[in-house]
Amino acid sequence: MSSIKIYLATSNQHKAQELRRMFETEGLPVCVESAESLGGMPECEENGDTFEANAKIKACALKAIAPKDAYILADDSGIVVDALGGRPGIYSARYAGVSGAGADAANNEKLLKELAGVPDKERTARFVCALKLLEPNGGEKTFTGTFEGVINHGAKGENGFGYDPLFFVPEKNMTSAQLPPDEKNQLSHRGKAQRLLAEYLKSIL
Ligand code: IMP
Repeated sequence: MSSIKIYLATSNQHKAQELRRMFETEGLPVCVESAESLGGMPECEENGDTFEANAKIKACALKAIAPKDAYILADDSGIVVDALGGRPGIYSARYAGVSGAGADAANNEKLLKELAGVPDKERTARFVCALKLLEPNGGEKTFTGTFEGVINHGAKGENGFGYDPLFFVPEKNMTSAQLPPDEKNQLSHRGKAQRLLAEYLKSIL
């Protein structure tokens, strides 16, 4: 197996570390570099209308400053709530219009407000993750994963981030913020998309 270097279109070291661990577990000779090693993630407007389109926008922005022989990987994710016609979807991170430290709490509060009075059986939702891989030969691959659940009436659990405290996972009878990280990763949208990526890399390396 030959080894490759993948530049990750994020400044989030947590995401880079998570991917490194996954490749290690899968026994894949992949070196993961975050955008910081290229001087930081370039500014880009995420104005696509799908998760995949936004992942591609981020990947292309990093490709512009990366070495020609580099693989580039970007991800975009969010929560799709059926009773809200799919919102917040691609706007999940900026749903309540708050950025920084208070964003998750504000987003969760807004979601609970918007779903007030919606009965349990209509509170179905899913997390979605799209990964976009740009290859040095000009090839482009997309890997997606979904994670089905129901929006609870209040927050529960301390793990995870974002909407996890509200996201009830029926098969585990707890929220994704109550799941230990490894168990969440087995079921999660991101975990599924990452394992599809790993399968693809195994087939080409
Ligand atoms: P991004 O793809 O990192 O920009 O994430 C988009 C937003 O979707 C995050 O800010 C979270 O609000 C939400 N989100 C994505 N994945 C998860 C998850 O696994 N748990 C909880 N919230 C998530």
